Parts: sequence; structure tokens; C-alpha cells
Amino acid sequence: MNNLIKTKKSLGQHFLNSNWVLSYILNSAEINPKDIVVEIGPGRGKLTKELSKLAGSVKCVELDQELLSYLNTTFPENSNVEIIYGDARTIDISSLVYSNEYKLVANLPYYAAMPIIMRFVESHNSPKSIVVMVQDEVARNLTALPGKLSIPAVILQNFGVVTYVKRIPPSAFKPSPKIFSAIIKIELFDSPAIDNENQQMFFNLIKKGFASKRKKLYNNITKSFDIEKTVFQNILTKYNIDKDSRAETLTFDNWKNLYLSMKTNGYHSNV
Ligand code: SAH
Repeated sequence: MNNLIKTKKSLGQHFLNSNWVLSYILNSAEINPKDIVVEIGPGRGKLTKELSKLAGSVKCVELDQELLSYLNTTFPENSNVEIIYGDARTIDISSLVYSNEYKLVANLPYYAAMPIIMRFVESHNSPKSIVVMVQDEVARNLTALPGKLSIPAVILQNFGVVTYVKRIPPSAFKPSPKIFSAIIKIELFDSPAIDNENQQMFFNLIKKGFASKRKKLYNNITKSFDIEKTVFQNILTKYNIDKDSRAETLTFDNWKNLYLSMKTNGYHSNV
């Protein structure tokens, strides 16, 4: 029956077609019978079926209307799976789950992977952990070391520890994508390193620091903040950061210290 439903490329539909990949996802997610699992994009339910055997309950968010009736037949009302129609980039997470006591597991639609990940980590109801399949390039970007850090990689470290689990070949999916994929795991902190109230200003500092890739950090920062070059360089030196550093070389703790120092001294963004 499910073969009658047309595969929609525009919704990033690449269905899992490999048992060893399923095992990798399930093992990394460490699901136990007490767990509530949220799955984004259940598709034809291959991962969902395994999740339903291991977890207490599974709540799925799917944007393809056509798949809903199929999924509702496969997972009837008396099962431990609930199918919710919606867009995971904008869904009201508090209507799905009532606390942080849940795990997010998904083979994500790649076009929307970052907005979905950020929506969940930034939510007041963020999960305990996230195990997701994304494009390999995105996975490498998010788990890069200082020297190759990017804005999303630094921002994610405010919320948890990100690890690269496994590279996955195109043959694991049907239809096969053109690119490699990878499973990543994010273990969220009980509370973010920089609290909600300060997050927008903290992220703004990071974004401004990365503004022009070819420029040194002090150039990017002095362009956007009311701070003298020498004053900023003194702050860098105070935290043992080379005064000629570029943004991608700073560790998360470097960013955190810079932010706290600039805040204490009242330096404001002027753009
Ligand atoms: N989990 C399935 C399907 C993965 S493909 C499997 O592994 O086989 C990605 C799935 O995400 C598709 O079912 C697609 O319809 C769904 N999807 C795409 N965009 C979405 C969005 N914005 N919100 C929720 N689901 C989405």
C-alpha cells in the first residue's frame, strides 16, 4: 500500500532502507521503556516501528498529509504511537510534550535539519538528548574542532555536547540521496551555558565575530561594537587568546569569557 504514495523530493524524503543503520540510531539513542520519544518525519514508519518497541511512547510530527492516513493505519489509536500533522520548524513544542523528559530521534529532512535542531535545543521544553541523521557535511560542520568552527557549531555548544556517531552511505536510503549522511548525537545540559536572558546578545557577539571570514576577530568586533581595538585586544590577551585570532579558532569558553567581559564593561553593539 505505501508504495502507492508518491515520494516527495521537496520534503527531503529519503526513506531508511537498512537495518544496520537503524541499529546505530537506536543504540546511540539509548532508549528504555520509560522514555517518551519525539520523532520528526516518520515517513513510512520504519524507524517509528522500532522506536515503538523500545520506548514507552512515541510522538511523531509529519508534514506530508498523504503519509498521515497510512501512518494512522499502521499505528492505530491503541498503540503507543501518536501521529501529529505539522511542520517541525515551527511546531509548538509545549503542545507535544509537557516537560524536558523526552528524547528526540529522527532521520531528518535535510533541507530543514538545522532549523529543526535549533527549534528543539532553544525551546524551554528542550529534549534530554537528540540523535539525528543529517547531511555528512552538516554533521562535520557541527562537530568541528577550534580552527574550523562555525556560527551554528559554537551556538550548539551553548546547549550541549555534540558528537559525530557514524558516516552513512547513500545506499542506506531509498531513494538514495546523492550525498553521504551521518548520525550525530547531542546530549543537552540541564541548563544552557549562557542563560535565556543573555542568549540573543551572546549569539549576536558570535555572529558579529564571524561577520567577515577574511578579517581578524578584532576587526569584525570593533566594526560592530563601541570598543577600541587595543581595549578589545587586551581582553583577548587576558583570556590567553592570540590578539590576531580569527573567529573560527576560538573555543566555546573563549566566546563565553569574551561575552561576559564585554557585558560587564558595558560594550554595546552599534549595528
Ligand atoms: N523517518 C523516515 C523518513 C525520513 S525522510 C525514514 O527514516 O524512513 C524525512 C521525513 O520528514 C519525510 O517523511 C518528510 O515528509 C518529513 N518532513 C519533511 N519536512 C518536514 C517538516 N518540516 N516537518 C516535519 N516533517 C517533515
